[in-house]
Amino acid sequence: MAIERTFSIIKPDATNRNLTGAINAVIEAAGLRIVAQKRIRMTKAQAETFYAVHSARPFFGELVEFMTSAPVVVQVLEADNAVAKYREVMGATNPANAAEGTIRKLFALSMGENSAHGSDSVDNAAIEIAQFFAGNEIVG
Ligand code: ATP
Ligand code: MG
Repeated sequence: MAIERTFSIIKPDATNRNLTGAINAVIEAAGLRIVAQKRIRMTKAQAETFYAVHSARPFFGELVEFMTSAPVVVQVLEADNAVAKYREVMGATNPANAAEGTIRKLFALSMGENSAHGSDSVDNAAIEIAQFFAGNEIVG
């Protein structure tokens, strides 16, 4: 297995409830290393670009509204097989379907307010990381 990087967002429902540290503890316990991290307020343009793949979906407006409603914490996570590993650690998109011990099972409020984002492929991880981090902000 190769060392990979994935992109993570701790979403507004989680920062609102002061859960950044609790989520980071789950991430680190799973063996993912947080090699970059910053708390930002996403702009509407950033959120629309980030979720452009969902622009035709009925929930797109609500999604952009939510992602810009409060601060988020953007992160780069590193591990063997980081992309798939973090998807497993996050759990299913809908918390009702998420496995025990996953971030979404532990913390998510709903399908929309689901506490975390993780890239769905290595290629998308590289694209998403570049949207929020300069190379010299990532220290592995
Ligand atoms: P993410 O991309 O945020 O990591 P995901 O890959 O599990 O989540 P996607 O299908 O990419 O899920 O959807 C992106 C996000 O859009 C979801 O995390 C969720 O916040 C929101 N979303 C997806 N489907 C719905 C829906 N039916 N209703 C409301 N929000 C939704
Ligand atoms: Mg996705």
